[in-house]
Amino acid sequence: MVNNLFLIVLDSCRFDSFERANIRHLGALGSLQRRYSYASWTSPSHYVLMMGLLPHTSPQHVFASEVYKQEYRAWVQRLGIAELSFKTFVPQLSLPKVLKDHGYKTIGRVSMPVLNPYTAISQHFDDYRLMDNHNDFRGMVDEVTFPDAQPRFYFFNLGETHYPYMLDPNSMPRVSGVHGTVKSLRDPEGAAQTQAVADVFPAAEMQRLHHQQSRCVEYVDALMGELFDKCPANTYFVVTADHGELFGEDDYFGHGPIMHQKVFEVPLVEGMRP
Ligand SMILES: [Zn+2]
Repeated sequence: MVNNLFLIVLDSCRFDSFERANIRHLGALGSLQRRYSYASWTSPSHYVLMMGLLPHTSPQHVFASEVYKQEYRAWVQRLGIAELSFKTFVPQLSLPKVLKDHGYKTIGRVSMPVLNPYTAISQHFDDYRLMDNHNDFRGMVDEVTFPDAQPRFYFFNLGETHYPYMLDPNSMPRVSGVHGTVKSLRDPEGAAQTQAVADVFPAAEMQRLHHQQSRCVEYVDALMGELFDKCPANTYFVVTADHGELFGEDDYFGHGPIMHQKVFEVPLVEGMRP
């Protein structure tokens, strides 16, 4: 019997936001791993995830091709399908395609509009939908069913951990700009411009937002307990993020066109349903 699979992406969840969160259910899956995203924003990062490549460990002294082969072979353990390898994924290089070929029903639920059903991300899903609400992990969990013996692949993209980290409407932050990146306007020569940066990214507000992202991880963690209860014992979970987030470090906020380690550093936990 092959394993059901959940791939849950906490959008924008930076590694240390996850690390600082007081979690219970997610921690029961396995130990927290520090990984690195292949991309710094949502779309390209999800294209790589759909290829079956999870955020990497940045290993040294190895050829990239060897790392990719090991990554593809790792699906054998996760899914309980003996013959999987890089060759199984060729030529489409699609995790949902491989799962469909092995009899899975493939279901996707996404929160970010850039992952909407008209994009190539939705390819090879039997059932794929952009949620009406940016923060609706609750709704995704409510929809999960295992009505028959067919194995299931659920791919969830969660908006709870994405700016503005809204768990309640009273916590709306006052940072300029909307989703994605607000880049620094600082001119290294100009004190007046430096003052403007402090106004745009006040340190206390940055700390509050960082803290709020950890609170959002805790909210997701509480719902994970309910999700585990709905799943058969042979269900494998991978929980990770598509990229990190900057909270004022080096005068950056957000993610996207930013070259910074904290944008690539992401958490990963995986394991069988506890
Ligand atoms: Zn994202």
